[in-house]
Amino acid sequence: MRKSLHSKEQLQDDRLLESRAYVAGEWIQTAIQAEVRDPATQRLITTVAQCAPGMIAGVIDCAVKAQKAWAAQLPLERGRVLRAWADLVRLHARDLAVIVVMEQGKPLREALGEVEYAASYLEWFAAEGERAYAQVPPSHRPGAQIATTLQPVGVVCAITPWNFPCAMIARKAGAALAAGCSVVVKPAPETPLSALALARLGASAGIPAGVLQVVLGEAKQLAEPLLSSANVRAISFTGSTATGRVLLAKSAPTIKRPSMELGGNAPFIAFPDAPLDAVVSAAITAKFTTAGQDCLAANRMFIARPIYEAFVEALGDRVSRLVVGHGLDNGVDVGPLTQLSGARRCRSRIREAQRVGCRIIAGGAIDDDHTNFVTPTVIADATDDMEIAREEVFGPIATVLPFDEEAEVIARANATEMGLAAYVFTQNVGRAMRVSRQLEYGMVAVNTASFTGPPVPFGGWKQSGLGREGGLEGIREFMEIKYVCYGNVE
Ligand code: ADP
Repeated sequence: MRKSLHSKEQLQDDRLLESRAYVAGEWIQTAIQAEVRDPATQRLITTVAQCAPGMIAGVIDCAVKAQKAWAAQLPLERGRVLRAWADLVRLHARDLAVIVVMEQGKPLREALGEVEYAASYLEWFAAEGERAYAQVPPSHRPGAQIATTLQPVGVVCAITPWNFPCAMIARKAGAALAAGCSVVVKPAPETPLSALALARLGASAGIPAGVLQVVLGEAKQLAEPLLSSANVRAISFTGSTATGRVLLAKSAPTIKRPSMELGGNAPFIAFPDAPLDAVVSAAITAKFTTAGQDCLAANRMFIARPIYEAFVEALGDRVSRLVVGHGLDNGVDVGPLTQLSGARRCRSRIREAQRVGCRIIAGGAIDDDHTNFVTPTVIADATDDMEIAREEVFGPIATVLPFDEEAEVIARANATEMGLAAYVFTQNVGRAMRVSRQLEYGMVAVNTASFTGPPVPFGGWKQSGLGREGGLEGIREFMEIKYVCYGNVE
């Protein structure tokens, strides 16, 4: 019998499968419930609580009070709690990963990678809190000493997506908690279970009541009181650029500190001197991980004309051998899309490609419009004006386009309002430096498809976002600078 038929039975500790909201240190049940479904089978996993918007004022009051006490703790003490949280995440890694697979759909191997990625951010920020050094610049005034300190911004609202339901919360909450902030998390409705499981482990690790809360419910209704409150001082969001714009606008009246990780449209550029096999492997990783539902996903594969046909053929061959299935089944490479609407959007893009005469090298099945599964597909000979090249595909479709000149491909790669990540493959050091300098992107990966992690400032240029997560910069998103001038009046 397939393991996927018994998803819940895969859990070693089913207490992690929490379905209540987490407010003021209490687990809250509500009369109104929302369904959470397995995107692979569309079967019901469980129902979860739905907070009424009227509850949010109390949630914010609690976060304000809890934050003051949390900020008064030493960074070392907050760091201990974050490290304990990371340890518990690692101890329960398999269960957390099973929950990610159940509600998000990705293969278990990838989910385990996501859980470790989450733990690594908690650990990183535990140490960053202890080393959030400020400055004592040389004074510009006679007899005065000037200094800066860093202090927590206050209550943070974190609105998180469904593609990395565990890691995005850890990356935001880890930074904010280390800075001495309290956090109200509003997870995506598709993936509340990962958020609740993390909160359970956070509570066991010693996060005080009210410092981390998880509210569940209708996004717009809950966001309204959170974003209009002057007591919520920062909004940290990961999701689509369209939703990011709405949240920024709603945060404007109270001038909240924004941290926005928005959409991408990553170019993946391979020059003729790049080793073909390695580039094809990187293309598979950069496109088909999380079934392509990643803002870092290679959205436009620009391949130099001399290696174009060989790349297209090799990629098609590898992609047609990817195993599609339930993320809990052995040997699966690509799971379902989390949202049926996303799968339908992918199928309509495949139809567009067929209509305009692109070559479909692998996949291309569009017969069943009621499934979240999309056959991994390679579309060759696409053009820059097609929707699959202009918009983030967010699905397992590789779009391949030929190019001739370096300057041409840089201009084409930059011809988008997005600017999150770009990939460059070349053995020529001079070219690698020239091209990476000219790409208008927050992150450039040269000769690799794997580059994120706690030490790097993750974030985008242009309409891909504001601010950075991780790195030396990550904790600063949640801290205010205070400048103090000590004069010499006695
Ligand atoms: P998608 O449409 O694929 O769900 P979004 O970027 O809209 O992607 O969603 C990311 C997160 O933003 C989710 O937690 C979602 O519930 C939330 N969200 C979406 N629309 C709004 C909104 N108008 N106000 C607040 N949160 C929102």
